[in-house]
Amino acid sequence: MSAPSIPKKQWAQVIEKTGGPVQFKEIDVPQPGPDEVLINIKYSGVCHTDLHAVNGDWPLPTKLPLVGGHEGAGVVVAKGELVHDIEIGDHAGVKWINGSCLSCDFCQQSDEPLCSKALLSGYTVDGSFQQYCIGKAAHVARIPKDVPLDAIAPVLCAGITVYKGLKESGARPGQTVAIVGAGGGLGSLAQQYAKAMGLRTISIDTGEDKRKMCLEQLGSEAFVDFATSKNVVKDVQAATEDGLGPHAVLLVAVSEKPFQQAAEYVRPRGSVVCIGLPAGAYLKAPVFESVIKMVQIKGSYVGNRRDSAEAIDFYRRGLIKAPFKVVGLSELPKVYDMMHKGQIAGRYVLDTSR
Ligand code: NAD
Ligand code: ZN
Repeated sequence: MSAPSIPKKQWAQVIEKTGGPVQFKEIDVPQPGPDEVLINIKYSGVCHTDLHAVNGDWPLPTKLPLVGGHEGAGVVVAKGELVHDIEIGDHAGVKWINGSCLSCDFCQQSDEPLCSKALLSGYTVDGSFQQYCIGKAAHVARIPKDVPLDAIAPVLCAGITVYKGLKESGARPGQTVAIVGAGGGLGSLAQQYAKAMGLRTISIDTGEDKRKMCLEQLGSEAFVDFATSKNVVKDVQAATEDGLGPHAVLLVAVSEKPFQQAAEYVRPRGSVVCIGLPAGAYLKAPVFESVIKMVQIKGSYVGNRRDSAEAIDFYRRGLIKAPFKVVGLSELPKVYDMMHKGQIAGRYVLDTSR
């Protein structure tokens, strides 16, 4: 294949300072280092993490100026001289974990998200809200050519993360998982991964659009509206067949309250898996009930390279169908606005050509 022509300039969404605004402007196309590839991003999902980054919600500073985005799917257009296992023309994805040291205790055990030197796309290095993005070759997701690049974009963070979280929950086929924040990007994919893994789901979120999507499109057996329910704990337990509560809870919501409620409705010996990262939030659980119910509470953080490949393969096999809407890269501020208001059912995906 002849080398693709790479422009010197490209369009990107950039923040100059924490708090924004995001500015749609032309910047230089970066050049890959020896162990890196340059990916012509075609589509990028917008994750709530990107909005947390703009707002400076977390006790970890971002680089500045910053190009956000970490669900970028595209085509490899250049590679460094040390890269031998991915070719120009291959389809590849930029994930949250852009790179890691590959030699620390955690990397050696395939826990590369825990590497203290991990590079985070759209946070500590520039991410996928640009037309050309760099990724460490060892870490970019390999995307088979029969997989559409717009639909796979949300899998690159949301899909991988919920798939890993479901594995971490220990829930077994036939058991029930409550998905809290079910109407959002992670939540919608969580219902589909759960179903593909033989699990049953109860959805918790708010609004008619999200209720319909969860029950009619994504396969949940019940929906509890946290805004109108008089007693979320009772309603979630009542939604399980024997009234004893779900075997696991996947917390992908962006507010603190459910992180302080889940241990109350989870089934004895059940697990509560924390994934959402609301600003300044604390976990809380009653000691007495948690002990006598033998509840497990844990965190789950994205996934490793193997989890990523598996999550993509679930999609490739036709098991994952979650709604997404495509808009131009220039429309990112509107997407952030809707996300802030909790108005997005599913995921928005940006088309970098417009
Ligand atoms: P999103 O905005 O698409 O969805 C969040 C959903 O939570 C919305 O539908 C909202 O209505 C719902 N919600 C708000 N308050 C709720 C409540 N009290 N009860 C139930 N639902 C409630 O966000 P997203 O992109 O799916 O991301 C979700 C969270 O996960 C973010 O905080 C993000 O940073 C985090 N995240 C974590 C990881 C990880 O590895 N741990 C990876 C990706 C994203
Ligand atoms: Zn994300």
